[in-house]
Amino acid sequence: MSIISKNIDKAVHILSNEDVVAIPTETVYGLAGNIYSDQAIRKIFEVKQRPLFNPLIVHLHSVEQLQGIVSHIPEKAQRLADAFWPGSLTLVLKKNLSIPDVITAGKDTVGVRIPNHPVTLALLKKLPFPLAAPSANPFNRISPTSALHVEGYFKDTIQMVLDGGDCQNGLESTIIGFEDDEPVLYRLGSISVEEIESVIGEIRVKNKEENTPSAPGMLAKHYAPRTKTYLVENVEGFIKEHPNKAIGVLSFTEAFSAANIKYVEILSSSGDLKVAAANLYSSLHKLDHLDLDMIVAQKFPEFGLGNSINDRLDRATK
Ligand code: AMP
Ligand code: MG
Repeated sequence: MSIISKNIDKAVHILSNEDVVAIPTETVYGLAGNIYSDQAIRKIFEVKQRPLFNPLIVHLHSVEQLQGIVSHIPEKAQRLADAFWPGSLTLVLKKNLSIPDVITAGKDTVGVRIPNHPVTLALLKKLPFPLAAPSANPFNRISPTSALHVEGYFKDTIQMVLDGGDCQNGLESTIIGFEDDEPVLYRLGSISVEEIESVIGEIRVKNKEENTPSAPGMLAKHYAPRTKTYLVENVEGFIKEHPNKAIGVLSFTEAFSAANIKYVEILSSSGDLKVAAANLYSSLHKLDHLDLDMIVAQKFPEFGLGNSINDRLDRATK
């Protein structure tokens, strides 16, 4: 029997009984539990096989709820919240003492956001507690952007996926932390650096090495297909170098063809980066299920969401 359902009250019931439910958001599907339930939070880590040093993002339905969650809101954090919430921006702020350590991996900070999805906002409004929700994929696998992706991963381990259709943005949230009240970019995501900088001016970007301990979403190996994947500028050259392989191509706009190309996924034939980002994970899921020898992904232009897409593709090759 399918675990996919549109019944919000059923999700309320399961979550109120300290169990987990997969929820739709505009970024990717999340695996959600009551932030104050040790049982629910431990189940999230167990089901995902996620290491405990990886903190979870807390999902709220309103800015007012921040009061009980964080102890200090820097001025630039307030401006970002005003500009982008509800939306695909996670702010890492000093936590309130009541937030359990298992949510924050023992840190004194907590990641928070208001997702921009009508179904999950309706769910959050019916619950007397916020939801902790990392992406609803096993650790190191491709993030889910449809209810079917989640069901494929977890049909034997969770009771319910709340169906909210395909995720409109399709990439994880952009994560910004604060060090001495100054913003620092921890993870590229659905909102581009250019959009962020149009609100608060130039932002410091943490490089991967510097970042690993504080934002494990930046772990080098993350979001990976099981088929060996390559990220290249010159797809045609790569295809010629591997004549005896069955290859799947992840292309931005072009329909590549050659004898050894078994499948091409075009992310946006009109060259729209937002559309390409929305299609990225479902195309990777598709290619990963085709029994190919290798997947070759074309490098994206280095601006706007192109940088976020390249970041995920780079990790998919690790
Ligand atoms: P996921 O929801 O699976 O994309 O993972 C959530 C990600 O949010 C983590 O892997 C971290 O990168 C980030 N995160 C959440 N809370 C914190 C925090 N307190 N400090 C730094 N990063 C955080
Ligand atoms: Mg994740």
